[in-house]
Amino acid sequence: MLTDLVTGLEVPTDLLIGGRWSPADDASTFDVIDPATAGVIATVANGTVADAGRCVDAAAAAAAGWAATAPRERSSILRRAFDLMTDREEQFAELIVRENGKAFADALGEVRYAAEFFRWYAEEAVRLHGELTTAPSGSNRIMVVRQPIGIALLITPWNFPAAMATRKIGPALAAGCTVILKPASDTPLTALAIGALLAQAGVPDGVVNVLPSRRSGPVGEAILGDPRVRKLSFTGSTEVGRSLLRVAAEQVISSSMELGGNAPFLVFDDADLEAALDGAMVAKMRNGGEACTAANRFYAQAGIAEEFTERLAQRMGALTVGPGIDRANAVGPLVNQAAVDKVSELVGDAVSRGATVSTGGGAITGDGYFYAPTVLAGVPAGSQLLDEEIFGPVAPVVTFETEAEAIALANSTEFGLVSYVYTGDLARGLRVSEALESGMVGLNRGLVSDPAAPFGGVKQSGLGREGGHEGMVEYTESKYIAVAW
Ligand code: NAD
Repeated sequence: MLTDLVTGLEVPTDLLIGGRWSPADDASTFDVIDPATAGVIATVANGTVADAGRCVDAAAAAAAGWAATAPRERSSILRRAFDLMTDREEQFAELIVRENGKAFADALGEVRYAAEFFRWYAEEAVRLHGELTTAPSGSNRIMVVRQPIGIALLITPWNFPAAMATRKIGPALAAGCTVILKPASDTPLTALAIGALLAQAGVPDGVVNVLPSRRSGPVGEAILGDPRVRKLSFTGSTEVGRSLLRVAAEQVISSSMELGGNAPFLVFDDADLEAALDGAMVAKMRNGGEACTAANRFYAQAGIAEEFTERLAQRMGALTVGPGIDRANAVGPLVNQAAVDKVSELVGDAVSRGATVSTGGGAITGDGYFYAPTVLAGVPAGSQLLDEEIFGPVAPVVTFETEAEAIALANSTEFGLVSYVYTGDLARGLRVSEALESGMVGLNRGLVSDPAAPFGGVKQSGLGREGGHEGMVEYTESKYIAVAW
């Protein structure tokens, strides 16, 4: 237990299994690094395959009791979790900054977003409706009930250490499932602190188990290989998602996948340019660009492209970069050195093909993993960063002429998570929104994430939805009972 990392917040460093905190079965540990300094801030238990088995046992032992717990009681516990997290939002934000690096304002925004999943699913827990209809033949009734799907494995990424966990735990608990959370090894502390918070809120032992581990492959396979486990909810890269789908196929486990993105941001000549710039800054720079929803490609229509690029560069260049813990900084470090290397490589590739740097353009030397906010103009087709997630503070701008061309460019990717459109013409906005191949569209808005809305992607950005009512349905199975009376 760390008592001095964040004032006023106890941060566990052991595994949470069956309501007890314990070291790894083989006593092994791994380090957690502060991306702003590259220094070690904590040492955390490194879960083993044996620990994974203990987690499934604990989740199985708690399953029947939790499924039978009254929805109102489950709802009250989730509501308490919302209150507890909200009371400690500053401490949770600080913890996120320490292990993830993001700017304090982004971390505080994440904590509020994360807590909202507890509140939303406290409200949804008592609204798990079934159906009753008369069979077309008239011979009987068709009754459909929704039951908890069973034990769920939740695997989360490092970029939203709190929100990606609560976006899964909230609906799973509301639906009556018990869970095993495997957080990213760059950011296990927030997940462990959420485990402690849930225990305090009254979640019974074994309902939520938290298993940090650097052995994610074997641990994931062990859990998904156990026939008692019936659900996988994964958020992370498309590459890892694809390999987990193969593993889940063995036991035909229901899988929800929130994978990578490559969001286009379209600005038409008739857009309110000031609003488009505000939206662009949010869509690009929330989390310093390390978001699956980050605008990855800016497409500006010829009439405004030059002015848009120039003004975007001014705004990006004016951002203060530095450790997120200092609230004056708008942009923190990237998560690790590999992230800096990847962003540098992508920018280098675009520049070598003829893109020009309007602002930024390189890593910032010194301690930590900092990269300067960057705008690239005239980015040629074929540049790697138009095809891959940049996951950093880099905005490439491409010019287009017609609406049809913009739609074709936007859709020319295997990803389909979110798209952004700015236009003053509502008919065009809706027409383009319908034509875009993505699970979500921000129409004259640079932020789409909302716990009350279905979040998710099409194409290789994922399967299923999180948030809204749909997010809870993912943790249920429908059962049809043919009734004659
Ligand atoms: P990642 O795929 O490398 O890791 C995600 C999680 O999977 C981590 O917990 C990791 O330890 C675990 N993991 C890795 N290999 C595994 C294996 N073989 N078996 C089981 N678990 C394994 O992703 P990341 O780098 O942590 O996160 C960034 C990625 O997440 C980006 O692609 C981003 O777009 C995506 N993301 C998507 C959403 C969304 O909602 N669509 C949200 C946030 C992040």
